[in-house]
Amino acid sequence: MTFADLGLSDELLRAVTEAGYNEPTPIQAQAIPPVLMMKDLIGIAQTGTGKTASFVLPMIDILAHGRSRARMPRSLILEPTRELAAQVAENFEKYGKYHKLSMALLIGGVNMSDQVAALEKGVDVLIATPGRLMDLFQRGKILLTGCNLLVIDEADRMLDMGFIPDIEEICTKLPAQRQTLLFSATMPAPIKKLADRFLNNPKQIEV
Ligand code: AMP
Repeated sequence: MTFADLGLSDELLRAVTEAGYNEPTPIQAQAIPPVLMMKDLIGIAQTGTGKTASFVLPMIDILAHGRSRARMPRSLILEPTRELAAQVAENFEKYGKYHKLSMALLIGGVNMSDQVAALEKGVDVLIATPGRLMDLFQRGKILLTGCNLLVIDEADRMLDMGFIPDIEEICTKLPAQRQTLLFSATMPAPIKKLADRFLNNPKQIEV
């Protein structure tokens, strides 16, 4: 199995080669084709398996080929911590260097005005922790009605940190017609319940 077998664009294959990757990891080989086919997905995988690229790579191609609606974010990645959100943003920049996609990193502990300025310019991808996202939403700074691609990453850590009510609320603000990807190292009952409620006929993979 090579990256070229997975259906990614030539620009992404170039970025992946330049990142020094020879072949997809098992989660990448299993997740990338269904995500490119716009299916919902549950990925049971730990950090260190190449999980981030398994959603960032196909997201870049989906966003690059879709039409952008004026100024509204088109996708949202939720991460439990600032550090993880920042790492995902770095990955987006690394893999997306041949695409013109814009991104906003919405995390706590940093000045909100820069984040608001980025949102006002219009972005393709929001990478956020639930607390800061809810805060900006409640201040009327974000419209989520154009976000038809959602990633809930590290769902079991979100549960440990008490973020499930926030995530449920965020899910209800996104369009019902959307693609949702959920990643978790384990599948405790509350995460299974969240997936049952907010994912549509998901393909489940486990590595
Ligand atoms: P993650 O599980 O997403 O945190 O990724 C773990 C590490 O694996 C990161 O440092 C990635 O840069 C690296 N990585 C991701 N995909 C591949 C791949 N296909 N081949 C080699 N390294 C990879």
